[in-house]
Amino acid sequence: MCGIVGYIGQKKAYPILIKGLQRLEYRGYDSAGVAMISTNGNLNVYKAKGKVADLETFCEDKDVSGSVGIAHTRWATHGEPNITNAHPHYSASGRLALIHNGIIENYATIKENLIARGIHFKSVTDTEVLVQLIEHIMLSNDLCILEAVQVALHQVIGAYAIAILDCEHPDTIICARQSSPLVVGLGEEGDFYLASDASPIAEYTDKVVYLNDGDIAVMQLGKDLIVVNTDNETQHPKVKLIDVTLGQLEKGGYPFFMLKEIFEQPNCIRDCMRGRINVEGNRITLSAVIDYREKLVNAHRIIIVACGTSWHAGLIGKQLIESLCRIPVEVEYASEFRYREPVIFHDDVVIAISQSGETADTLAAIELARRSGAFVFGVCNAIGASIPRQTQTGVYIHVGPEIGVASTKAFTGQVTVLSMLALCIANERCTITDNQYKEMVAELTRIPAKMEEALTTNEQIEHLSSIFTYAKNCLYLGRGYNYPVALEGALKLKEISYIHAEGYPAAEMKHGPIALIDSEMPVFVIATRDKLYEKVISNIQEVRARGGRVIALVTRGDEQIRNLANHVIELPDTFECFQPLIASIPLQLLAYHIAVCKGKDVDRPRNLAKSVTVE
Ligand code: GLU
Repeated sequence: MCGIVGYIGQKKAYPILIKGLQRLEYRGYDSAGVAMISTNGNLNVYKAKGKVADLETFCEDKDVSGSVGIAHTRWATHGEPNITNAHPHYSASGRLALIHNGIIENYATIKENLIARGIHFKSVTDTEVLVQLIEHIMLSNDLCILEAVQVALHQVIGAYAIAILDCEHPDTIICARQSSPLVVGLGEEGDFYLASDASPIAEYTDKVVYLNDGDIAVMQLGKDLIVVNTDNETQHPKVKLIDVTLGQLEKGGYPFFMLKEIFEQPNCIRDCMRGRINVEGNRITLSAVIDYREKLVNAHRIIIVACGTSWHAGLIGKQLIESLCRIPVEVEYASEFRYREPVIFHDDVVIAISQSGETADTLAAIELARRSGAFVFGVCNAIGASIPRQTQTGVYIHVGPEIGVASTKAFTGQVTVLSMLALCIANERCTITDNQYKEMVAELTRIPAKMEEALTTNEQIEHLSSIFTYAKNCLYLGRGYNYPVALEGALKLKEISYIHAEGYPAAEMKHGPIALIDSEMPVFVIATRDKLYEKVISNIQEVRARGGRVIALVTRGDEQIRNLANHVIELPDTFECFQPLIASIPLQLLAYHIAVCKGKDVDRPRNLAKSVTVE
């Protein structure tokens, strides 16, 4: 949450900053702002409420000269999303400007102390205390800006990625991170780029440094990057090469990133399996399983920690691992797990799932699990993010940058990785026969083509969406592997169309939600042919008997449900355990088209942001 961008070099900073903010807008769009050192040495700060486009309009008649600047797109945590609370924040004298991603937990105490010393605050954010504290320390102790930042950060509790400009040192940007991501790009001409993730940097350079917790980086024109900690000890972060193409960062003709990402899924899943499934299509090799075979194969229990959509993927992972590997699995919301004093054994394996690899609660859950001696395995999309660095091993889902706030391809990527992991472990534990293993691997390789088939329902779903656009409530039902699909379908609809939706195990409906059913409420039932098929048919009957309108996702050729449901969406057949990879696609499309019919901004749903780096 919150996007940070910075540039220092010979080029004009403003276009780089704006483009960078656009790339990071998925992280927050409550307000946007930029601070730049102009060619005549002024430190200008411009801010606008709303989106990056509003900032651009505001800046049309402003001095945006200069080649040094920082910029921010906000997802408000402290203080309403107005211009005063927007970043960058000036220091009291106007000498410093600062942007921040995260939460300063002890901001109230620091603020009180600074107010007692006569410092006047303009905003109600936690962020402003940082810039005021740094300036106060700098001026009252006659320190340089780096020293002042080091002293200040010793006093600060919380999560931050910050970047600071000092108009008395216009050739320098200082940035620091603790529990919020920050990447420095090393340009060809000695210039530096800075961002919350690599997407704003990728078009200028492929050389990046991912800052670690506690790092403070000094980017100075004509000098090498300096990285120190708050005790001024030099750090030696590695320079990494990133592999992101511009096409992955742009909409490529689609009206929204979400739609592009839904349609990308067949290829993303091919990428996810590439190099992991052999050419014959019957063996999976995951280096993490080879390297840590003993830990994984001998696990007595697996705990999956995740949030949101990743938690839904975790529920599917539970079923896969329990049924294939016969290892008990618990699935936990990371935000609950971290505070619940959970019982963790040293021979537990904890699987942490997060698209961004930066989810604050998931990172805290990892930390807790590691402290308890558990072995932690990460499942993540963003290369070089915190999760892969803080877990003992893991698997990237390799679906490319996901920019739409509502996760789609990352979800199916996570489920694919969990499927491969379960199959590898099951094979090693001999809990499935070699034939079963080979057949399942072969079926997994057929999933991308079946996803392509599922995507052909797009037009039908667009039509259905127009019928259900004005529903006030929707129910999503599924059983077994399709229960998490129901949860995920309901979440997608809530996120982007703001329609109240609930996902439920179909049989549980009679313990409550059935009371809600009337002709006004669409009920989406995932009723593909699996071992619970007949049971789900009974659940459909129960809905129909109460006048409910049923839209059923069925296996191609299903005549029985066609005669029962009001609408059917036909999907290709696959193994029960892989059904979520297919059945989630029409539900993603449904949420998308309903949101479009309602005129919503699909990629920037209200109050949400991607990469939840605050708890
Ligand atoms: N806490 C800061 C604010 O509300 C930054 C929020 C964030 O990074 O999400 O302005």
